[in-house]
Amino acid sequence: MTVYDASPENQKRFWSYTKKNEATGCIEWTGRTGGKGYGMFWGGVNNKYEIFAHRYAMVVFGGKDPDHMLVMHTCDNRLCVNPEHLRLGTNRDNINDKVRKNRQARNVGSQNGTARYCETDIVEMKRLHSQGVTATEIAKRYNTNTTHICRILSGKIWSHVTADYNVMQSWDWVI
Ligand SMILES: [Zn+2]
Repeated sequence: MTVYDASPENQKRFWSYTKKNEATGCIEWTGRTGGKGYGMFWGGVNNKYEIFAHRYAMVVFGGKDPDHMLVMHTCDNRLCVNPEHLRLGTNRDNINDKVRKNRQARNVGSQNGTARYCETDIVEMKRLHSQGVTATEIAKRYNTNTTHICRILSGKIWSHVTADYNVMQSWDWVI
């Protein structure tokens, strides 16, 4: 295990390589970065080891010794060394975290946060259309234009929603 140098001089040197991002609250590393985009700091005793800057932050400022555990970013910003944005995790946590974030990136429809309709609206639109209600009439009901409704009905957008769509499906992603 690495022995960290937490001397005041070293701490001062550490913070001299950082810059606060006021928008996100992240304290970003401005010093050297390693291959994967993480900050690197010669923070081992006697300048013997170059270690991950966020791990140094966790040990020296977060007061937690990660030992064999991972130090994970809750803010997803690899350059961040704000101890409040760091947490300890296992390799399994890290994988779960990646899977969860990947799922979020793949989320479609109402889960993407900018959608005007929810899945049940789309089901209803498709149901109305199958009963002979025209796209123009559906557009009026949903306070939108016919082109938009046509794109939905033809599957150009919201194609993941079919007439027998089950809203629960979207939560049921498999890895
Ligand atoms: Zn951060």
